[in-house]
Amino acid sequence: MRVVLLGPPGAGKGTQALKIAKEFDIPHISTGDIFRQNLRDNTELGKLAKEYMDKGLLVPDEVTNRIVEDRLEKEDCKKGFLLDGYPRNIPQAEELDKFLEERGHSLTAVINIQVEREALIDRITGRRVCPVCGATYHIKTSPPKVDNVCDKCGSELIQRSDDKLESVVKRLEVYEKETKPLIDYYTKKGILVNIDGNKSIDEVFEDIKKALLGDRRNDIH
Ligand code: ADP
Ligand code: ADP
Ligand code: ZN
Repeated sequence: MRVVLLGPPGAGKGTQALKIAKEFDIPHISTGDIFRQNLRDNTELGKLAKEYMDKGLLVPDEVTNRIVEDRLEKEDCKKGFLLDGYPRNIPQAEELDKFLEERGHSLTAVINIQVEREALIDRITGRRVCPVCGATYHIKTSPPKVDNVCDKCGSELIQRSDDKLESVVKRLEVYEKETKPLIDYYTKKGILVNIDGNKSIDEVFEDIKKALLGDRRNDIH
């Protein structure tokens, strides 16, 4: 199963991706997580990505495409994959199609998680993440058991520097202009599935599971 998770920042892509990857036993590939890991490891890629991420802008396509393609070449992606946060504009989507086509593959489904703008801002500004294991929380809807401490590894939670209100507004703008056209792009290919992301985390997951199980039955390998 080769799946893309689409949706505005804060829609719940990362949250759902962990559950989908576990349920269907496929690797979860998040370009945002890859950039943040590089930032923590202080690599050249991390330094370059930071310049764009802090401004709420997209990291250049040549860099992003190469990273995704290197990752998709790995052995564990033979059984499928779940892309979270990629593609984010039409050129990236075209590159992904070309890459898969050259290998005789195509996407199984694109899950588009829809959430209203007001809720997005609440979700992003209330998001807290674990800088060590990457777990995601929300101060109101998914708080950790102990205030500001990661349930999974005990580290102190932080707010992503691009989750402050100033960057959020810019990221939503970039989403509208660059990422939203992908809805049309994948609708035309007949593989887009819209999911109401305003429901609870578990309800959204049930809806996604149903959509993917339906798709898997029709999956011709
Ligand atoms: P994305 O990866 O799309 O940016 P996340 O999965 O990180 O989004 O979710 C953004 C924030 O919203 C997180 O703090 C997360 O805990 C919270 N969240 C995710 N899904 C829901 C939901 N269905 N209802 C309420 N809060 C949610
Ligand atoms: P969100 O929670 O907003 O969906 P992500 O973790 O997916 O955030 O992305 C954080 C930042 O990483 C983006 O604002 C952008 O700077 C960079 N980034 C992530 N994925 C891509 C991509 N596919 N192309 C370019 N930049 C990306
Ligand atoms: Zn942790």
